[in-house]
Amino acid sequence: MIFCCQTKCCHFLFQGSDRTTTCPDCGKKNIRPATREERIAYFHQRTEALVRARHSG
Ligand SMILES: [Zn+2]
Repeated sequence: MIFCCQTKCCHFLFQGSDRTTTCPDCGKKNIRPATREERIAYFHQRTEALVRARHSG
């Protein structure tokens, strides 16, 4: 499932399991399940990153 970090200035979107409790970016236990819009944004970011990697390689 996708989580969103609620820490101020972080707002990191990441994939984790149902046992995930900490943000891998800032390490704080201040996460919540991502909303539908945030999940879409997450997959959009990942897709863009893949496309960019393919073009540069
Ligand atoms: Zn964070």
